[in-house]
Amino acid sequence: MSEELTKKVKDLVLEWGADKVGIADATLAEDPPHGHGEPFKIVKSAKSAIVYVLAYPDGALEVDHTDDLIHGGTFVAVQKMLNDELERIGLKLARYLEKQGYDATPLAPELPRDEKRWTGVMSLRYLGQLGGLGEVGQSNLLVTPEWGPRIQIGAVITDAPLQEDGPVLIDKVCKHCNKCVEKCPPRAISAENYPPYNYNINRCMWGVNGWYRLTKVEEPPRDWVEARPTAQIIIPKYERQYPQIKEYQDWEQRLGFIPLCCECMIHCTVGVKAAEKRRAKKSA
Ligand code: SF4
Ligand code: SF4
Repeated sequence: MSEELTKKVKDLVLEWGADKVGIADATLAEDPPHGHGEPFKIVKSAKSAIVYVLAYPDGALEVDHTDDLIHGGTFVAVQKMLNDELERIGLKLARYLEKQGYDATPLAPELPRDEKRWTGVMSLRYLGQLGGLGEVGQSNLLVTPEWGPRIQIGAVITDAPLQEDGPVLIDKVCKHCNKCVEKCPPRAISAENYPPYNYNINRCMWGVNGWYRLTKVEEPPRDWVEARPTAQIIIPKYERQYPQIKEYQDWEQRLGFIPLCCECMIHCTVGVKAAEKRRAKKSA
């Protein structure tokens, strides 16, 4: 374990603009939830995952999300900006580690994803939890003490022997207030079970992919909820039934993924309280 290299890596990531960084033991990410990939397919002898976050400006979460143009021109645009920054940091970090003699590969913060299973290359929120940055809360989002879930996450997998921070925030961040459950329009998260088993990906797709918003139908149809591996496979059927979805797909094709629901992120009690504290500090 190199203490000196660990410090250097963390200092660089913060210097390059990240808000927080942690080191996860890559071997702990061998069997991630939801069929995500594992680190050894990325770096054969992976030892560590360097995980870092960038926080949304609070204003981007507090705009009028019911207005498509405002939502797309602020929250969605900021999400893309944060992901671009995370990619930039990841590439610089991987190149730095290579120069020190290690293998290192950055992960894409958002896209591409396996459209059928709706998973990315690895679960970044899970890595974030393993690296001590926060806890996967009832919302299934990574909830940090500083910003709640109002963050985007990046990671680099490496065989560099870094000192891990460990999953030190489990049971310490999420308040189990169920505000996220209450606010989720298509009931994608439940209070009855624990993450990841309380999250219904098909119901979330009805929200985040705009089906709820564009059709005004809050409850997804039964065959949508029950479709396997995910509701992606029956989209053609519902495209015919709800022509307004075509509009969303055209945007998506031109502009990339547009998450049309972020209610669990906006209303998380931890994120709201943290933003209030920042505001109070500024006006003091
Ligand atoms: S993004 Fe929307 S639909 Fe998905 S879990 Fe969050 S609140 Fe529910
Ligand atoms: S809204 Fe409450 S229950 Fe949901 S993730 Fe945030 S703190 Fe946890």
